[in-house]
Amino acid sequence: MKELKSFLGGRWVAGGGTPHTLLNPATEEPLARTAGGAADLGAALAYARDVGGPALRALSFAERGALLKSIAGAMQASRDQLLELAIANGGNTRSDAKFDIDGAIGTLLEYSEIGNALGSRKFLVDGEGIQLGRSARFHGQHIAVPRRGVAVHINAFNFPAWGFAEKAAVALLAGMPVLSKPATSSAMVAQRIVEVIHEAKILPDGALSLLVGPAGELVPLLGAQDVLAFTGSGETGARLRAAPNVIRHSIKMNIEADSLNAAVLGPEVEPRSDMYELFLKDVVRDMTQKAGQKCTAIRRVLVPRELSSSVKDDLIELLSAVKVGNPAEEDVRMGPLATADQLAAVREGVERLGGKLAFGDSQKKFDKGFFISPILVEEPGEAAHAHEVFGPVTSLIPYEKDPGGIVARGNGGLVCSIYAEDQAFIEALVMEAAALHGRLFLGHPKIELSPGPGTVLPQLVHGGPGRAGGGEELGGPRGLAFYLQRVALEGARPVIQKLIG
Ligand code: NAP
Repeated sequence: MKELKSFLGGRWVAGGGTPHTLLNPATEEPLARTAGGAADLGAALAYARDVGGPALRALSFAERGALLKSIAGAMQASRDQLLELAIANGGNTRSDAKFDIDGAIGTLLEYSEIGNALGSRKFLVDGEGIQLGRSARFHGQHIAVPRRGVAVHINAFNFPAWGFAEKAAVALLAGMPVLSKPATSSAMVAQRIVEVIHEAKILPDGALSLLVGPAGELVPLLGAQDVLAFTGSGETGARLRAAPNVIRHSIKMNIEADSLNAAVLGPEVEPRSDMYELFLKDVVRDMTQKAGQKCTAIRRVLVPRELSSSVKDDLIELLSAVKVGNPAEEDVRMGPLATADQLAAVREGVERLGGKLAFGDSQKKFDKGFFISPILVEEPGEAAHAHEVFGPVTSLIPYEKDPGGIVARGNGGLVCSIYAEDQAFIEALVMEAAALHGRLFLGHPKIELSPGPGTVLPQLVHGGPGRAGGGEELGGPRGLAFYLQRVALEGARPVIQKLIG
């Protein structure tokens, strides 16, 4: 069985902590073993700060962007192998695996372009200079410089490639060294990506570290110049936010957590119209892609009461055609959940939602593997607005007049999608939902190859208020701000102008 090592302090190391066995969730066959806890994380962080940080800060944005392009190239060259690992260790169908790996490559390339556009600068000039006194000599200018610590990235199990890349691309471009910690259960893909980057000798020493296995003392070791970007459950996020050193040192932290994303069908949409079909397609894709283990997946389907039974019948028909099984088989459309714990949590979550099962059976036994069928719940209880079931599970919720009020009960989310033709309805719902979300997706059948609300694009911000963690990632150049310290320069204009170039 493959031993997964961490890459810390510039070398591959095996931790001495409790070993964890990584499985194929379709067959329960052991694939790899890891151990984490006992590595000297303090020394690894110091190496990244002292060796990786200066090396990256010495490069311009364009040079750092070129590194990202090389990483994307190395991943592209190993794409087939990465896809196979994602299928075996993640329960992904080939299409799910492509979504993760190609999404990672696309994000790296987008940030490489941003670096190219920022050019030969090593820090950002933020806005115009400001005359501060009566004469033009007294001048002010904001700049933003790379922070001098380590960007620690803790990722969820569902996107081991994209989760790694969407954080690492932005931090490296900003000029901060990265220590990435993938979720243990699906770490094989992220581990191989770091191996590939290392083998291709792309990054300066200390610029990229990897911790495989549990985080151990990682977070308590962080200091004032480090930043922590976390993706995972709201519960873990809240625990990390309350860590004494995070509070004491005002450690910058970004949390990407749970979300009860809603898709709203407008009242005037005719069954069988293009808009209606698009809505059904997006709901079914979000329920089944990655077996619903997507933070952006649609969890609540809001439909006008008079269309409720038509939508239900159509969703049942489409879900009946989804073949669930071992994703290594080509005709399978939905693989298993990632772990036995995930399966238990989803089964328990379906019970919590209450209501009636319009489709699926959460207790159905499979011979092997962590499988569950897609589940459509109708008339759920209040838990549909309070509890995220992280699997192929969606609640059908009829509304009379005010879908915005129902959407708001989710207490903040990553994305709300609207499928409507009436501009007044769209505008009212946008205004109601905007403050509660990181992104609003306005579905339209004329948009060619629409990726649906579940796809996170590097050009747009990803995150959301409230339940979603209050974080914001990506968004093109906006994402750099998390890794940069903004500072106001105040002094004589010629001195400042020479300094900023
Ligand atoms: P999780 O159990 O909270 O774990 C997330 C990460 O945190 C894993 O790497 C885990 O490591 C690590 N972790 C756990 N305890 C920790 C601690 N005390 N100190 C430091 N790290 C710790 O979440 P998950 O089950 O992997 O992911 C599912 C959740 O993530 C869902 O709720 C989903 O909504 C959310 N999610 C959100 C987004 C988003 O962008 N908003 C994206 C994807 C997923 P181990 O694996 O080693 O325990």
